[in-house]
Amino acid sequence: MTDLTAPKLKAEILRHLTYTLGKDAAHASIYDWRMALSYAIRDQIMGPWFASTRKTWDTGHKRVYYLSMEFLIGRLLEDATINLGLRDIAEKAMAQLGQDFREIVEDEPDAALGNGGLGRLAACFMESMATLGCPAYGYGIRYEHGLFRQRFEDGRQVETPEDWLKERNPWEFDRPEASYTVAFKGHVEHRFGRDIWVPGETVLAEAHDTPVIGWQGRWGNTLRLWAARPTTMFDLERFNRGDYAAAAEPEALARTLSRVLYPDDTTYQGKELRLKQEYFLTSAALQDILRRFTTGGHAITDLPKHVAIQMNDTHPAIAGPELIRLLVDDHGLDFETALDTARACLGYTNHTLLPEALERWATFTFGNVLPRHMQIVERIDAWHKAKYPTRPHYVGIVKHQEVRMGELAFIMAHKVNGVSALHSELVKKNLFPELNALHPDRIVNQTNGVTPRRWLKMSNRPLSALITKTIGEGWEADLDRLRELEPHIKKKTFLKAFGAAKRENKVATAAWIAEHCGVTVSPDALFDVQIKRIHEYKRQLLNILETIARWHAIRQNPDADWVPRVKIFGGKSAPGYFVAKEIIHLINDVAKVANHDPVVGDRLKVVYPANYNVSMAEHLVPAADLSEQISTAGKEASGTGNMKFMINGAPTIGTLDGANVEILQEVGAENFFLFGLTAEQVVKRREDPEHSRHAIEASQELQDVLQMIAEGLFSPEDPGRYHALVHRVWHHDYFLVASDFASYLTAQAEVDRAYADRNRWLAMAAMNTARSGFFSSDRTIRSYMADIWSVQSAL
Ligand SMILES: *Cc1c(COP(=O)(O)O)cnc(C)c1O
Repeated sequence: MTDLTAPKLKAEILRHLTYTLGKDAAHASIYDWRMALSYAIRDQIMGPWFASTRKTWDTGHKRVYYLSMEFLIGRLLEDATINLGLRDIAEKAMAQLGQDFREIVEDEPDAALGNGGLGRLAACFMESMATLGCPAYGYGIRYEHGLFRQRFEDGRQVETPEDWLKERNPWEFDRPEASYTVAFKGHVEHRFGRDIWVPGETVLAEAHDTPVIGWQGRWGNTLRLWAARPTTMFDLERFNRGDYAAAAEPEALARTLSRVLYPDDTTYQGKELRLKQEYFLTSAALQDILRRFTTGGHAITDLPKHVAIQMNDTHPAIAGPELIRLLVDDHGLDFETALDTARACLGYTNHTLLPEALERWATFTFGNVLPRHMQIVERIDAWHKAKYPTRPHYVGIVKHQEVRMGELAFIMAHKVNGVSALHSELVKKNLFPELNALHPDRIVNQTNGVTPRRWLKMSNRPLSALITKTIGEGWEADLDRLRELEPHIKKKTFLKAFGAAKRENKVATAAWIAEHCGVTVSPDALFDVQIKRIHEYKRQLLNILETIARWHAIRQNPDADWVPRVKIFGGKSAPGYFVAKEIIHLINDVAKVANHDPVVGDRLKVVYPANYNVSMAEHLVPAADLSEQISTAGKEASGTGNMKFMINGAPTIGTLDGANVEILQEVGAENFFLFGLTAEQVVKRREDPEHSRHAIEASQELQDVLQMIAEGLFSPEDPGRYHALVHRVWHHDYFLVASDFASYLTAQAEVDRAYADRNRWLAMAAMNTARSGFFSSDRTIRSYMADIWSVQSAL
């Protein structure tokens, strides 16, 4: 850790303001101050970062390479100050300069190079690997435009492009010297007994490095993001002839590769550009890995002793054939040795069971974009079939003119993991039953986690202070120590302090809601929060139907003893996901009616701040009383939002899905509001073709709610707006909203009863924090290091 003091940091900030920004303090904008502070903080990272790299080289330590199409990083400034132990010093230094630290921090744009959970997991993993001293590189794409920005127009989602690189990014270092050629298309020639790929197109992948500093600055790793550049030079001859557009064509074509993030990770689209992006990331990463490895002077077959490569979902699954290609075509290994070597390096994390999300490429497209890889994929498939002759005829990588990336990743990985206990079992049972039978030790479980530095220490200062006061320091890197809070939960004084910390967050969030949504909410109301991507399986629809039932019940009986509630929604829909967009519209329509209902008043408010992202989660999670984790059982692989809420002392209302199962197990049934069908019951329930009609007919409340929506009560200007949506619940309802409605209502009533008993509620909330240690991503990473990567800490 550094011995930097506030006056010294202040001098550093002023030095950067003058010499890096070229600004006089008298004329500096908030942007200038943020840049100056960021550079001053960044300087403090360089020492540990270089030392870590040097140590890894000197000891010949094994390295982990985490390949991911998404890194949902969020802001970095405050996080860096926290991990360097400079948070309060930075605040003081800025105050001495007449600047508000909070305002500076919030000026930073979110790095939103991801869609949701999968990308945020990659970001948490990077932080935990740095904290644990696991030598690692993250590899991704430096998208010029991250996830779109969301606005509401008359309650409808409108997308606009995101532009995080419009301003200078103080955290990255350009590495023009680290660039690789990535090839596409062309054909394969068979000459001198070898297959030689003659590509039709090439681009350059150029590295941009962001240091990732762990807790207390003890270790630093690198996030290396690739930007695409043209290999052919600008065509001066054409330009001089006046053909400006054609002259710039190769450049435009290449840059398209790193232009935009695909705004969806749950439906598979089969677009050629996406395949090219996946190969672009993977090929650049593998070339970089082999370059670093050969610099070390080892025999190429020793690769698995020095290199572990993790594929975050199937997006980088082309790594299998690409590594074989490099080992065979460039390093002269025979096919089987190359395959064994590659597989010993590779691990594959499965993130979804949704059939529509599993990547498959038409062999025509695949063979066109990557002709050499098509050959290799077919050879892998044939090799596997020959080696395992009992493999059923319908199992394989290439089937029905498609390349199945899940099967490819499975066969090319020495370990395949699911992301929660339930999910890993379903991966074995439902997704890859035949491959699991042939390779019974390959599938393992690694339950997700989140980093407690960002999701507790940084974003929830009142609770962090109380924890430190109660159990002392050190819990940040040893989250199991939160268990030491348990004996204090019996004490009135502790509960009172716990309640005060929560209330402080709620007061701040109430002000934030007033500013962002123009709605006044009471900090004494129960803050009921569902923030995540909008998807039918996550069932925001179930939540808004319950909200309508509540609104209706309050109107029927306004003088009953209502527990005031604020329903908080947040999340984006994929731009082309029609049903999800209808649900967004409905939530906004219900908010408009409920929030202006004088009969209901403060008993119910509905807010939906636009543009949910990491920074918004950091605002909302610490203020939540209730965590909504209500997906159809069997559909949410793990969830990580659920863990953030638990750590911050919000009990869950949830189904037995994903990591909810393990949350329930840790916290105990008395501190969790369980409802709904189990994954097995869901499958059974769907066997009744009239399941939703039967469920609706059994619930008067649900009938009333659906009728109100259908009659246009929330859309008087367009009464037919939700006919299709209501029809869907009655007659289709694949995600069993109707079947789980009654038990959800019962669980919500139990929430009201529990909240009304203040001490009971506070004990439940505190118990959630105390028992959340298991959900630190440090635990997850330790387990990957031991079970998949075979790598030890370098600390
Ligand atoms: C944690 C997080 C997610 C994942 O949330 P789930 O509830 O697990 O789907 C998605 N987006 C953002 C911005 C997050 O911080």
